[in-house]
Amino acid sequence: MPAISPKKPYRVGRSRTGLGLFATKPIKKGAKIVRYFGPLLDSKKKKDDAIENKYLFELNNRWTIDGSVRKNIARYINHACKPNAESDVKPRKRKVVIRAIKNILPGEEINYDYGTDYFKAYLKPIGCKCDACEKKRKKKRAEARAERLRLKAKAERKALRKAEKQAAKAERERLKLELKQKLNGASVKPNGKFANGKHLNGGLSNGHGRAKAAAREPAAAKPQASTQPGIFATVVGPDNQASA
Ligand SMILES: [Zn+2]
Repeated sequence: MPAISPKKPYRVGRSRTGLGLFATKPIKKGAKIVRYFGPLLDSKKKKDDAIENKYLFELNNRWTIDGSVRKNIARYINHACKPNAESDVKPRKRKVVIRAIKNILPGEEINYDYGTDYFKAYLKPIGCKCDACEKKRKKKRAEARAERLRLKAKAERKALRKAEKQAAKAERERLKLELKQKLNGASVKPNGKFANGKHLNGGLSNGHGRAKAAAREPAAAKPQASTQPGIFATVVGPDNQASA
């Protein structure tokens, strides 16, 4: 580990991806944290242009800082998609300063956004390990898990409904067969009664059935109007017969 003056508000420490730079004192938003420095490479020089490492910081089309030197503490700062610092680039001065864009508390890892080109070239292929991306991945995994459980529960409900339907169908078939067997075992009279005295509705000959049958029988004979002696006398009295 590189020697860092205890006056500095940071230290190098273990991070998720290896080493990282961590705050040891509160760092105010907007404060300069550390300079990103190293030899300047000129893309017009073949020797410079041939240098390749992941600490190259491109200032413009021509100038690049080679930050791979050990003294460049800023090279320990990891990338984050939602960082608490930024790289403040001054191409004309050929100078880069890492500056806080949030208040940073002691213990927090310092990070900045490396930019789209670096992200596409180095981070996207292996998957960005920054807090924001880890959180996103975790959320996606949880959502996928919830979706799997939802689909499983749905399939189980469907299977249960199917089983219930099949059981109901089997029960209907069973009752139909039972009725058929009953019908085959008894001859039917034209009045809808079985020879054994059972009604067509399948019910046993009970008191209710008998009561119905009794109601259908003719009512007991009532006295006829013409047989009443008084009325008969007025219509066919001896006086009328006499005047006719
Ligand atoms: Zn990320």
